[in-house]
Parts: sequence; structure tokens; C-alpha cells
Amino acid sequence: MPNKMARCIARSAALLALCGAGPAAAFERSDGQTVSCEVEYAGRSVKVAEEYVGNGPVGTTHPALGGSAAVVRRNRDGSSRMIFDRFVMERIAQRSKLAADLVFYHECAHIRLQTDDEIEANCEAVRQMREVGYLDDDGYAALTAWHENMGRVAPRYGGTGRVFWQRTEACLARDRPPTATGTTVAGPAATPAIEDAAQ
Ligand SMILES: [Zn+2]
Repeated sequence: MPNKMARCIARSAALLALCGAGPAAAFERSDGQTVSCEVEYAGRSVKVAEEYVGNGPVGTTHPALGGSAAVVRRNRDGSSRMIFDRFVMERIAQRSKLAADLVFYHECAHIRLQTDDEIEANCEAVRQMREVGYLDDDGYAALTAWHENMGRVAPRYGGTGRVFWQRTEACLARDRPPTATGTTVAGPAATPAIEDAAQ
């Protein structure tokens, strides 16, 4: 029912529940594939809940996210969820669909690695995109260009998009950390609130 789903997605997060998507709604990648963020927790795979706010291509940034494309927030039970601002995500996608997809993998990586470090999260996001076969050389080049055109970014990203990407690449060249293999117990419990800046 793609039409029904499209209508549901165009509406508010509250209405998503009525459409049957609920809080565990999955991200629709720009290639049309629906993907979800799964993390290892206590030896089992846990699907991270997603929330979508804002109106997509029209409107303004959602006040709850303060201009961020997406954030990671703690749930009452200690698990984490990802919240996406449709307006900011759409603005990114208009310039680079793959960059919008990267935001999803980036937020997921914050939770998977239990880190608030932006370089580690970006690095793991690129690794994941490669692992699932979603990042070929052209895609990598597109992400490189995207970061290099970013201009100034917050200090925690390295101050400029170029430095952000350089540090991401340096991380990619290093060995994968043990927490990323899934063999170490890493859960949604301890992730701090993470605000990812608008890009
Ligand atoms: Zn981040």
C-alpha cells in the first residue's frame, strides 16, 4: 500500500501510530529500501525506535530538535530512540540523497557504539553503509563532496566539514573498535542525548 504509506509518512508522528507504523517506524532510504537500526543488547538484536517530526519539504524546523536533522534521546526505560526532523532531512536530501541516508546510519551508530563522539559515529555509519552494500566508490565520492562543501560546523565535528571528513577517513583507516563487532554487550541503555547539528 505505498500510497497509503506515503500519506501516513506525510503526516505527523502522532498520526503515524494510526497508520500502523508506530514508534518503531523504519527509515526509508533514498533507494526505496526500508531499513531499521538494530543494535546488539545482552546478546540479542534490538530494533531502535524511530520518531519523525515536522512537515517535510514545507514548513520550518521542528522546535523539539532545534534545527538538528536528527537526535538520539533516552526513553523512560533507559533505551534510546532516534528522532528525525523531516524538514531538515528533506533539505539535506535535496542536496544529497546519500547524505540524508548517512544521517540515519550516523544516529544508529551513536547508539550501536554507545558514543557521543561525532567522528566515531560518522566512521561507523560509513562502515555500516559499506557492510550492507550501500556505499560504492561513487557513493563514497558523493559523501566526500558533501562533507567538503559543508563549511563551518560545530567544534565537536571538527570545526569544518573538510576536517570532519578527514577525521572520519582517519578513523576508517584504523582497526574497527571491538564494540562495533556486536560481540561486546552494547545496548541502548547508556546513550546520552545527542543533538546532531543541521548540515
Ligand atoms: Zn552525531
